[in-house]
Amino acid sequence: MSLVVVGTMAFDAIETPFGKSDKIVGGAATYIAWSASNFTNSVKQISVVGGDFPKKELKLLEARGVILDGVEIKEKEKSFFWSGRYHLDMNTRDTLDTQLNVLANFTPVVPELYQDCEFLMLGNLVPALQLSVIEQLKNRPKLVVLDTMNFWMETAMGDLEKVLKKVDVLLINDSEARQLSGQYSLVAAAKTILEMGPKYLVIKKGEHGALLFHEEKVFFAPALPLEMVFDPTGAGDTFAGGFIGYLAKTKDISFENMKSAIIVGSALASFCVEKFGTTRLKELSKADIDDRIQQFKELTKFEIELE
Ligand code: AMP
Repeated sequence: MSLVVVGTMAFDAIETPFGKSDKIVGGAATYIAWSASNFTNSVKQISVVGGDFPKKELKLLEARGVILDGVEIKEKEKSFFWSGRYHLDMNTRDTLDTQLNVLANFTPVVPELYQDCEFLMLGNLVPALQLSVIEQLKNRPKLVVLDTMNFWMETAMGDLEKVLKKVDVLLINDSEARQLSGQYSLVAAAKTILEMGPKYLVIKKGEHGALLFHEEKVFFAPALPLEMVFDPTGAGDTFAGGFIGYLAKTKDISFENMKSAIIVGSALASFCVEKFGTTRLKELSKADIDDRIQQFKELTKFEIELE
């Protein structure tokens, strides 16, 4: 039984009001794998990189137990490249450049070894490729979670609508939820989106936490108030990795357990933003994670007497 992760493995160049990075290793699936592998040692990755992607980064993931048989290396091509600039609030950003490179002609092939997939995390990627992975799996996984972004809503909405019909959980941020639904109110947006296919919807609101919607139910998880946010890149993917990693570990996909998974995802994301790229995720111990989850418990615990 395994957790299959699909998504970009890439180079990013990031500008924040406080600093600028050179080209650093990023990509949705990179963050997801680092995050999810804290909870399960059966992460199986599907992606594509160019010959420029550092082999050392692949070795580090392998050393963590992440299986890379589904990662194609196109030696003569360049890896996917994304560059973005964050606004002063560190919550919103502009994409400055997206170079598909290896992604332009990529056809994911699901290795036979991955057919035991029980949990499928479709990280941010071309929607047609996300769909192709679902279609290649002989048995439908127990849970399919999808992440996407405005870029794909603008360039591949038809395919995105097809994938939405096949997933259980959609993870997006607040501006993407508004764009996808055409609704300003997030409650109204959730209603519209839940009619597009997914049974569960998680709307991430950066430093303002995350909302989980299912049927008529809503749950809210805060984000940890941090004194310093260094680089928010990958926070959404790290959240996704913590969320599905925890569900894969506990094997319980009830609404109640998804509440815990959202707290775990938020805890992991709170580490990601503390340093540039994946640096902070690479340093984490189980004690660090447990301690941070405890801080979340204390942040929201209160008692009130009602007369
Ligand atoms: P996040 O900050 O969690 O939304 O994710 C940022 C990561 O997404 C970066 O590491 C990028 O490489 C990756 N990314 C940016 N744009 C895209 C895109 N259009 N498709 C797939 N991945 C992307």
